[in-house]
Amino acid sequence: MAGVRLARSNRPSPKPESRPKMMNATYAWPDGKRCVAAFSIDFDGETPYLWRSRHTQPNTLGELEQRAFGPRQGIYRILEMLSRLDIRSSFFIPGVIAEKYPAAVEAIAKEGHEIGLHGYLHERVDELSKEQVEESIIRGKQALEKVIGPRTMGFRSPSWEMTADTFELLQRHGIPYDSSMMGYDHPYWIEGLPEVPVQWLLDDAIFYRYTGGGAGNPPLNPNTVIDTWQQEFEGIKRYGGLFLLTVHCWISGRGSRIIALERLLSQLKNDPDVWWATCGEVAEYHAKQYAGQFRETLGGRTP
Ligand SMILES: [Zn+2]
Repeated sequence: MAGVRLARSNRPSPKPESRPKMMNATYAWPDGKRCVAAFSIDFDGETPYLWRSRHTQPNTLGELEQRAFGPRQGIYRILEMLSRLDIRSSFFIPGVIAEKYPAAVEAIAKEGHEIGLHGYLHERVDELSKEQVEESIIRGKQALEKVIGPRTMGFRSPSWEMTADTFELLQRHGIPYDSSMMGYDHPYWIEGLPEVPVQWLLDDAIFYRYTGGGAGNPPLNPNTVIDTWQQEFEGIKRYGGLFLLTVHCWISGRGSRIIALERLLSQLKNDPDVWWATCGEVAEYHAKQYAGQFRETLGGRTP
């Protein structure tokens, strides 16, 4: 035992510069706020099902009708809740939804919410050629602009998958930011674009999505989900990050879920330490304040 102690005491103590860095640079928010909260809606409706079954074209109606609940009812409940709470949000919408449900998209724009791109038919970009991704960006934007008029729109990738080609195309088409990646829990740069990061823990689908057939776990109780989000919010507040919640109207528009959601958003809205912003406002802040910081290449690969 004595020998061990002697050996340890003879070791040179580590120089300060060789110690691991314990903290990354912290991210500062406007007006001394400790963190930012943003609420986003991926207004998918039936499109992920239509994309998934585009080659097989099944004659089943169950999932289609379940999803249509979103554009028929869920969306209006979410809009009504946001109006009550006075929260401006970011809606990412596939072009097909604008074609099929123009009144819902008009209602979103009329309430002053941000509208962003979410593909044309909710295409997964990793299943497309570069030309097809470009076509989905152009068609998606045209379909939305037909309803809400021309405007600059950010991008959220369907299914939150991305490719290097897609980042390049977004820049080519003047898309000001992306919101599909999870490399930090505050904004950063990736492939030359501001990234407003999402995360699976703050997505309603992983807790609630259930489309029958006995596959998958039954949906969780809304109180459990809200507790989980509340805890993540406390963590993000401690470290000064971005609390970006993502819901789907066909999932979170259901009665018990929206009641629980309103409870959480109301509490966050009244928290004086929180800066509330849309995804577009967060991206703009990042581009201005952090032009030279938090720059990454895809997956840490060297360009
Ligand atoms: Zn989606």
